[in-house]
Amino acid sequence: MTSPDPELSPRRAARAEAERLATAALSLPVAPPAPAEPTTRRQLREAATGAIAVSPGVGRAPLPASGDSRPGVLERLRDAGAALASLPARRRRRLAIAAGSAIAILIGSALVIGTVAGSGADATASATVDDSALTAAVAAGPPAVPDAGLPVPEVSAVAATATPCDDPAFTAALAAGDDAAALAAAGGGSAFRAAVASGIAPCVSLSDPNREWVVVNKQRPLDPLDYRAGDLIMPQNVRALEDSALRAAAANALTAMVKAASDAGAGEIGYLSAFRSYSTQQSTYAGRVAVGGVAEADRESARAGYSEHQSGLAVDIVPCNGSCGTLDDVAASTQGAWVREHAWEFGFITRYAEGRDSVSGYEPEAWHQRYIGPELARAYHEGGYTTLEEFFGLPAAPTY
Ligand SMILES: [Zn+2]
Repeated sequence: MTSPDPELSPRRAARAEAERLATAALSLPVAPPAPAEPTTRRQLREAATGAIAVSPGVGRAPLPASGDSRPGVLERLRDAGAALASLPARRRRRLAIAAGSAIAILIGSALVIGTVAGSGADATASATVDDSALTAAVAAGPPAVPDAGLPVPEVSAVAATATPCDDPAFTAALAAGDDAAALAAAGGGSAFRAAVASGIAPCVSLSDPNREWVVVNKQRPLDPLDYRAGDLIMPQNVRALEDSALRAAAANALTAMVKAASDAGAGEIGYLSAFRSYSTQQSTYAGRVAVGGVAEADRESARAGYSEHQSGLAVDIVPCNGSCGTLDDVAASTQGAWVREHAWEFGFITRYAEGRDSVSGYEPEAWHQRYIGPELARAYHEGGYTTLEEFFGLPAAPTY
């Protein structure tokens, strides 16, 4: 064959090649009559129909990225070609003329093969279907419509690209600031996560500080930098070592979690620090820098505007057995063990897990519990996630 014309687009090149092959198929070489095995028209049709039936992907979305199906097509076409070669020449010609409509189908198939194969010379090369294969397809006539009817586009393949942003119930819940209703409309925490992480839900902002799914890290400051939540309250029936509030949903969840831990015999959970304002974080961070320098401060504390505590959704718990211990006592305490197992049931996650500082940006903090709501916390727990960044498909944020 001729080498591909560099001026031709891959699609046009594939079409030109398919047309050439189809034309060639009509002028068949005359071969000596084959003696053995009578080959029926039905057998030929079955062979060629099988080959063509491999390409019902026309119209399906998305097309496979690779040309995985090509070997199957070629093998079947080759088989059909071999069968045809055993026919007397006169009969082959008759079949070829009678089955003109198959050419159109074959051109379509060749184009599909060319499209699947990618671009450039590849497309042209892959459209070079063996002449005997074309001959066979021509001989077979139009493919028989199977009893089950023609192939129907797969709905599941389309559903993967459906976005909750097209759902009025979802967008209405977002607009109303009702995170729980939005998650319900999206089909639950896992479905919401999947939609956001795959990038098909642009109406969801992971930067909106009023959302329970806001992601704050060293690459994602609060927006605005001095954000202050409007619904901060003190949790009821929880020992607070500082006068530090939480957003209402997180405060109520903390109350429920502390009671459940106590009821389970895990001991009392108190807390040290929850909401910290921008200015409070400024002085906290400055204090750390004064003691250990910037590098050490960045490992242990957030810069103002970059702390989850400023969202009003994070709380540093402590174990209390009579008097309360420190943050460092949490990991080895019965309270800490219980929280590791059950915090997700109340909407909390351990935001800075062991060995994940290259993603989260922080050394492990067993005490730092971040509220993301029960639906998302369940998806986080059941999905085995250890960073919020990976949960939502965000880049790692090891440094500023
Ligand atoms: Zn903390």
